[in-house]
Parts: sequence; structure tokens; C-alpha cells
Amino acid sequence: MEGVERLRELGLGALEVEFVRGVKMGEKAAQELDRAAKKQGIALSVHAPYYINLNSHDDKKIKDSKQRIFQAAFIGRMFHAHGIVFHPAFYQESSPEEVYLRVKEGLTETLARLGEGVTLRPETTGKKTQFGDLNEILGLCRDIPGCSPCIDFAHLHARTGKVNSYDEFLSVLERVEETLGREALQDMHIHVSGISYGRGGEIKHLNLEESDFCYPELLRALSQKKVQGMVICESPNLEEDALLLKKTYSEV
Ligand SMILES: [Zn+2]
Repeated sequence: MEGVERLRELGLGALEVEFVRGVKMGEKAAQELDRAAKKQGIALSVHAPYYINLNSHDDKKIKDSKQRIFQAAFIGRMFHAHGIVFHPAFYQESSPEEVYLRVKEGLTETLARLGEGVTLRPETTGKKTQFGDLNEILGLCRDIPGCSPCIDFAHLHARTGKVNSYDEFLSVLERVEETLGREALQDMHIHVSGISYGRGGEIKHLNLEESDFCYPELLRALSQKKVQGMVICESPNLEEDALLLKKTYSEV
């Protein structure tokens, strides 16, 4: 509740509710949050728990993973979350194709259980051990009604060592458009932060100015493609970098 008020004071417009260590919000609190956010004009989204692996060898863990996504979505829908973001799976010993099918099955089942009114947003992930490169995420969103992407540009950069120039950012947006249509660019969910990375991809999130991430170029590409939707800053200094992004965007 205080978060949405504070955002309004700062002049920011959106908040991702972090259920990353479990969904601990009840239905009553979710409805109160919905009212508070509407009053302050703040849009909300949800990050589901980190502890999700739809490719686990342990059936119990798959079941628990589906339940965590379900719970996050069930509560998030009560405050009209723009999407329920999550990291779908780890490859472990499976081939990418096998993981894809398992993730697809898990999400299809979870969406059927949830019904209407909520969008699941599998996220592009930063570590090479994690399922979720750009093709995989866009494929899921093409194949499953009710799924839309969360494009984490810092993760794409960390994962590939590329995706850090105007042309590369533009080509990511063009692939979104080719795979999912123009509508997808009008309803995007985007994560941005600085990031450090090595051979395995993501190491940790950094503040923008302490990283090599060319965020002004990204913002220019978003503006050029007339992208609409929600941008969530995931730097350690959340509010500061969110304001920096907003200011820079208004200048490009
Ligand atoms: Zn995430």
C-alpha cells in the first residue's frame, strides 16, 4: 500500500509485486491493493516465485511449480496484474525440445485451471542453464493462448553477450512483431537493469550506470517501434534507475 503511494510521489507509473519467495498475500489484501493502485493511478504486475521448474525430474516439484504459478496468478488477477512473470524451467539433462514440451504442457494446464482474465508471462532468462532464450519464449507465446512474453533485455544481453545496440534491440522487437503480431508490441512487458555476466550468462543485476548496458539505445528502439506496455526496472537501486529510464525515455 505504501509502495503505490510512494511511486505516485516519485512520478513513476508501475510496480511489480514480488512474490519471488512465495505468495504470501491473501485475497483481502489483494483487493485493498487493487483499490489503492487505482486511486494512485499505478499499474501492477506480479513476479511469481523463483522456485519454479516445470522440467523437474521429480513429479512433486512439477506439481508444486504449477501450483506456485497458479497461486501467483490467482492473487495477481485480483489486482488486475498486467501479467504474471516467471522463469519457467531449467534444462538439466533434457534437450531444449523436451523442456519446451514440458513447459508448454505445464502452462496449458495451469491456464485451463485459471480461466480468463490473467496473462502468464514467461520471461527471457539470463543464465544458459535456464530455459528461456528469445525463440523459446516467443514460441510458447505463439503456441499457448493466454501467454505473452516478458522480455528482459538485460538477460538477453547477459545470455548472448550481444543485444546491446540500437540495431540489435530493434531486431528483438521485430522478432516479437513477426512471431506474435503488432498487438504484442502494443502490450509489452519489459524488464531492464544493468547486469554483469560471464560464460554462463547472468552473474548479477547492477545499477545501470555501473554496467555496460546501453539503455538509451534500448529506449530509442522502443520509441522508434512505438512500443506500449509496462517497463519494470530491476536494478538494485530500483527507484533511482526507474526514474533515470523515465527521464531518458522522455529525452529520446
Ligand atoms: Zn525474473
